[in-house]
Amino acid sequence: MRDVQPAGSHFVDGHYIDDPAGRLIECIYPATGEVVARLHSATPAIIELALASAVRAQKEWAALRPVVRGRVLRKAADILRERNQELSELETIDTGKPIQETLVADAASGADALEYFGGLIASDTGETIPLGGDFVYTIREALGVCVGIGAWNYPTQIACWKAAPALACGNAMIFKPSETTPLGALKLAEILILAGAPAGLLNVVQGYSDVGGALVTDPRVAKVSLTGSIGTGRKVYAAAADGMRHVTMELGGKSPLIIFEDADIDSAVSAAINANFYSSGQVCSNGTRVFVHDAVRPTFLARLVKRTANAIIGDPLDEATQVGPLVSEAQRNKVLGYIETGKTEGAKLLIGGRVPPSQNSGFYIEPTIFADVTDDMTIAREEIFGPVMSVLGFTEETDVITRANATQFGLAAGVFTADMARAHRVIAKLEAGTCWINTYNITPVEAPFGGVKLSGVGRENSRAALDHYSQIKSVYVAMSPVAAAY
Ligand code: NAD
Repeated sequence: MRDVQPAGSHFVDGHYIDDPAGRLIECIYPATGEVVARLHSATPAIIELALASAVRAQKEWAALRPVVRGRVLRKAADILRERNQELSELETIDTGKPIQETLVADAASGADALEYFGGLIASDTGETIPLGGDFVYTIREALGVCVGIGAWNYPTQIACWKAAPALACGNAMIFKPSETTPLGALKLAEILILAGAPAGLLNVVQGYSDVGGALVTDPRVAKVSLTGSIGTGRKVYAAAADGMRHVTMELGGKSPLIIFEDADIDSAVSAAINANFYSSGQVCSNGTRVFVHDAVRPTFLARLVKRTANAIIGDPLDEATQVGPLVSEAQRNKVLGYIETGKTEGAKLLIGGRVPPSQNSGFYIEPTIFADVTDDMTIAREEIFGPVMSVLGFTEETDVITRANATQFGLAAGVFTADMARAHRVIAKLEAGTCWINTYNITPVEAPFGGVKLSGVGRENSRAALDHYSQIKSVYVAMSPVAAAY
């Protein structure tokens, strides 16, 4: 395997740096369990360098014409695309996701975000509000230094989804990747320098929760955007509140995928596979509660199991591999625990549920399907974040909507039906921020992405993201002298 040890643990002020006094971070290749890189968590000295250089770079960057800032981001998008093969291999080594996925989903979607926000920002102007002589004009201003904190499932994409709109709006960003997948974001920081961004504009610092905590509470930080679990979201939101900082929270889910009796069954089976087994199920918006109308459930399950049995599990660096390992041993053990609970609570295991016998050195689990799942079972209530699908039955539209909404999560939802009136009627009643009709888990940068209820606050992607990385200054202009009462 190629050498993936970076030149330093952190990328700060335009170059790699390290401080071996920081706690060790071992980067483990999930397909074999071998340590492929050793990094250090940021010490207070590294955090200070990152903050000081970001403050400086932000002022310089925000003073540029938006069209010039946009050009840098679009250049970075081009470089990401040119280096897609190399970046995809790195993402695969960092996460264990199959190269056939990372080649199309990671640096590629990151490049889309840089291109989109780079192209959009120059036309994102303020407005003039006439008041019959006097008038008000508005200016969209940068917030300042933003902090991005990432989860481990899509390290490159998460870094780009946060950095692209933040930088487009004239902010600087300090990004802390997950300690489980520290490599991908470093490349983005490197590439932005190649594209012409000032040193310090995107700093990447490694670390555990204490490093995240130190960044979130620093008075120089204006905004925090987290992708992570609800537990972490609560802590980060509360810590950010003290300084009245802006937040975006992209958190977990337990999303419903509802398949009506008139749906195209093969298409619905494909969607259920993608919604549960892509990236070994480590996708926040996954449709893990698959409600299938009783009239088509036997057919649906038969086709689903037959196709799942054909999944190619193997070396993620082999382009033929469709299912790779989970990200870590801890995550694999957590998911195996949920599978045991599913069996104990009476769900019917149709396929999978094991560590594949041929892949016992990495953190693999076979794609797993449970039928006869009921709403009260643990596997139907808690986010598993692994390749475990729960299939539930239903007959009535109103009943399935109530059951789909009976959760504190609200990230995503999907509906499969040939009846478009029903599709829109049902979607309107589902409590979810990101919905699909007759497809699942497609997240183009042009569309807003995010959750309701405990699944999050704010939106990523689309024009909506600009609102979350900028603030409006409102300027009243008087055209005549001021009168006063005395
Ligand atoms: P996690 O919550 O354990 O960690 C997320 C990040 O927060 C890590 O970088 C971690 O170091 C940091 N962190 C932890 N405690 C912190 C603290 N007190 N202060 C500051 N930073 C802290 O999440 P994870 O296990 O890495 O990722 C899985 C979770 O992320 C799942 O719940 C999944 O649904 C969610 N997720 C959501 C989205 C989305 O867009 N909605 C996308 C991917 C993953």
